[in-house]
Amino acid sequence: MCAPASRSSFNPRGRHVGSLQLKTIRKAFGSHEVLKGIDLDVKDGEFVIFVGPSGCGKSTLLRTIAGLEDATSGSVQIDGVEVGHVAPAKRGIAMVFQSYALYPHLTVKDNMGLGLKQAGVPKAEIEEKVAKAAGMLSLEPYLARRPAELSGGQRQRVAIGRAIVREPKLFLFDEPLSNLDAALRVNTRLEIARLHRSLKATMIYVTHDQVEAMTLADKIVVLNAGRIEQVGSPMELYNRPANLFVAGFIGSPQ
Ligand code: ADP
Ligand code: MG
Repeated sequence: MCAPASRSSFNPRGRHVGSLQLKTIRKAFGSHEVLKGIDLDVKDGEFVIFVGPSGCGKSTLLRTIAGLEDATSGSVQIDGVEVGHVAPAKRGIAMVFQSYALYPHLTVKDNMGLGLKQAGVPKAEIEEKVAKAAGMLSLEPYLARRPAELSGGQRQRVAIGRAIVREPKLFLFDEPLSNLDAALRVNTRLEIARLHRSLKATMIYVTHDQVEAMTLADKIVVLNAGRIEQVGSPMELYNRPANLFVAGFIGSPQ
């Protein structure tokens, strides 16, 4: 059976893999230039973390990749194909927000399946994908509940599940653990690391938490005032910071 045209941006055979190329991305809000020329390559299956001080442009960069903001100039490519003209829902990207962004009136199951329903995926296929993602995230007992009947950690797992069922080429996470208490943060971080390994997914993840950055990342991108200060593995940044800003950011507890 052919997939509907609206799903053409998603991966065939359920592979969650894609690469990303950013070419000199600039983004201004009025006269305020927030992103000042970002160049970056993210490979298939890589876990890339953006760190940097509050207000440096991390969320704006994620939103630009997702198509929720248009770059003022430069180019966003997925698998080498320019997506500047492609609507957010058609980019093959799933984003997980700090605030979960679940629909309060829908059950867990319907929250997780909504994106697929809107894309015209047949009901049986939605059921199968939601059941599989719920299994990965230990959410089976909660499928009939509404978000208000869940803990913060469970809500965030639903938001992650909703991303998984869409089989995106890129997962984007914007400070997904910031609203969780310390113990849940650790559990959910380990869960995301496990998902990255089992799905072999390409993940881009914003955090201001060094432990998250150092333990999850294949590659850390240090941002400051709309520019990249350094890109490297956690050990490269720790052992050979390019400048005092990176040394301070990576080396000192926040
Ligand atoms: P971060 O996620 O690193 O904390 P943001 O990307 O949210 O930073 O914001 C970067 C800068 O862009 C901030 O100065 C913020 O006020 C500004 N900004 C973000 N979104 C908008 C918007 N929609 N309109 C105007 N300014 C914005
Ligand atoms: Mg932010």
